[in-house]
Amino acid sequence: MSQSGSDRLDVVVIGAGAAGLAAARALRDAGARVAVIEARPRIGGRIWTERSCGFYPIELGAELIHGAHTSTVELAQQAGLTLDEVDRYNGLRWGTPARPIHELPPDDPARQAIARARAIWNSLAERYTDESVDCSLATELCRHGFDPAALAVADVALAQTCCAELETLSCVDLAREQRVDQAGPREFRLRERYDTLLNWLARNLDIRPGMPVRAITDHGDAVTIEAGATTLRARRCVVTVPVAVLAAGAIRFNPPLSATKRAAIAAFNTRPATKHFFWFDTPLWDEDFAYAAHNGLFARWWTPAHPDPAAPLLCSYVTAERAAALDRLPDATVRELGLAELSWLLGRSDVAERCVGFRRYRWAADQYARGGYAHLPPGMAWARPALATVEGNIHFAGEATAFTSNPQTVHGAIDSGWRAARECLEA
Ligand SMILES: Cc1cc2nc3c(=O)[nH]c(=O)nc-3n(C[C@H](O)[C@H](O)[C@H](O)COP(=O)(O)OP(=O)(O)OC[C@H]3O[C@@H](n4cnc5c(N)ncnc54)[C@H](O)[C@@H]3O)c2cc1C
Repeated sequence: MSQSGSDRLDVVVIGAGAAGLAAARALRDAGARVAVIEARPRIGGRIWTERSCGFYPIELGAELIHGAHTSTVELAQQAGLTLDEVDRYNGLRWGTPARPIHELPPDDPARQAIARARAIWNSLAERYTDESVDCSLATELCRHGFDPAALAVADVALAQTCCAELETLSCVDLAREQRVDQAGPREFRLRERYDTLLNWLARNLDIRPGMPVRAITDHGDAVTIEAGATTLRARRCVVTVPVAVLAAGAIRFNPPLSATKRAAIAAFNTRPATKHFFWFDTPLWDEDFAYAAHNGLFARWWTPAHPDPAAPLLCSYVTAERAAALDRLPDATVRELGLAELSWLLGRSDVAERCVGFRRYRWAADQYARGGYAHLPPGMAWARPALATVEGNIHFAGEATAFTSNPQTVHGAIDSGWRAARECLEA
């Protein structure tokens, strides 16, 4: 085993996703000697811009910036990038064929279910304080009279976004997020795409790709990190790998992590998340089409090349049980099923013959992600701050640790990286 000549490192950051790059950038800008160890041959983690599939780059992972008052917007502005605003929710179309939600009759069951589900969602912070007895979002909706049909609509409108089922979402954890949420309702895409922001964040950093970390030893006065045939030594390390990777035991900790930390890691659920891209020879929808949803397997569709109305490209982003079901099927079957649902949504019969390309990416099959993003089931809200707690010289960041921000997001991951960097500098 070779000993790397990096004895003088202050901090080793494990993982070159949003959290790891944000942590390393902040540490380096503060004068620390820092290296980033990454398992994949690329940076970005669950942000992955694919530029080799035609005129429009596609985002296989994160695509939107959820909120104007976020660290992502702050960094995008520093980097001189362009924010294209998208109004998905007010432009939502529902049903087969999909119609603008505000054009449905006021007593339409889906319109009513979406409005009521959003209102209940927005009231969780008041209803579930830290001390509250927890329950699932499904239970909460049932308390408000949701029947199975209305629950199916809420599943698409709320749980799909969270990469979860209604039955496994903790109301206390969602309420905690709402209380600290400062992002605001506006949403954006980066015209230059997410990889541009990450490359800007990564400039001049010492990043070592293709090095899966398999063991971390805390010696009390230093840590050693084993990755491949290399051992790195530093004063401290920041672990930013997805919590599902930790739960799978991909990294051995010596001494073992505390019982509380291990219980916190085990508490999270990470469900499948899959993006399906369909290219056509021409746009088969009108210029105002931005976001459509229904109760099918391919529950949500949008225009990833927004704001270009002429882009003949659609994305169906599917999570949780729907993604688990589709992930088991071969490409050709999934393409056929997706096009059949799309023809109902668009109300036209030529969808399949106009399709010229298909691509999907299954995050559950990605060994360095092991799913989309993590959520906490009822009774487990304590696990988020516990996952973030420092153990000896080992700090923890990543979207799942974002207990004072929005987990499941890029800006939550960045905020957690900044938090871990501050902890290292204070230590
Ligand atoms: C399909 C999809 C769509 C999404 N859409 C959005 C969106 O529109 N907007 C939004 O804000 N968020 C979105 N998200 C969530 C967002 O992508 C994540 O919250 C965020 O990117 C997570 O960043 P992270 O740094 O915490 O983790 P990651 O990006 O996963 O980074 C962790 C890094 O650790 C590396 N790693 C893993 N194991 C090892 C190991 N053993 N050794 C070394 N390195 C290792 C990984 O390769 C990875 O690079 C989406 C996620 C998915 C999957």
